[in-house]
Amino acid sequence: MSALLEVDGLTVGYGAAPVLHDVSLTVQEGQIVAVLGANGAGKTTLLRALSGLLPPSTGRVVFDGADLRGVKVERLVRHGIAHVPEGRGVVTELTVDENLRLGGLWRKPQPPLAPIYELFPRLAERRSHLGHQLSGGERQMLAIGRALAAQPRLLLLDEPSLGLAPRVTGQIMALLRDLRDRTGLAVLLVEQNVRSALSIADQGVVLSLGRIAARDDAAALADDADLRHAYLGF
Ligand code: ATP
Repeated sequence: MSALLEVDGLTVGYGAAPVLHDVSLTVQEGQIVAVLGANGAGKTTLLRALSGLLPPSTGRVVFDGADLRGVKVERLVRHGIAHVPEGRGVVTELTVDENLRLGGLWRKPQPPLAPIYELFPRLAERRSHLGHQLSGGERQMLAIGRALAAQPRLLLLDEPSLGLAPRVTGQIMALLRDLRDRTGLAVLLVEQNVRSALSIADQGVVLSLGRIAARDDAAALADDADLRHAYLGF
């Protein structure tokens, strides 16, 4: 089976000095892959590179058979990649409805929002509220909903649990697993909350100082005490 996303030997940074070195990983259709590692390991940089926010670098990024290096963000969205950035990127001066519409902007025709509201009834109740009136959990749902409005096949998700109560984090993780099960959505999930991430992931990748330190089934990573102590802090 060929992978939905194939990253091969990716080296990328913000200036002359690379942050990521020779990173390779694959994501299959319908697979949840957790990207783990300490602060500064390069997790956010990896998602930025994959979503077209960082300039072309060495290595290959192949999505659904097409080489995506250097392809602009709007074309990546049309290819089926959506990014929920760290900090969520909700536009706080716009309503829930307007934020969701932004997600479908690059799609022609504009996708309907009804399926998103079905998935997040809470957002439907608050569709006329402004972004800044929402709770942290609602903002995270809005950020995910906006990405889903672009009808992606791969969701790049940066730290969805940041600042959320454990109960809300649990709801978001359950939602991701349910989405994957029902729609075959693939997810590359960056998380500081290692236990939560590994509980829903199929595979895990551990980054350390910009390099891949380990890559295995999520259950095997969770069971590897040495690795957990060395890189994952539990
Ligand atoms: P965190 O969990 O703290 O977000 P991370 O694993 O996501 O960590 P990155 O944010 O990718 O790590 O950062 C990796 C390295 O890249 C760090 O050394 C950081 O200082 C550097 N870096 C991040 N963003 C920039 C930037 N915009 N310009 C220059 N260097 C940056």
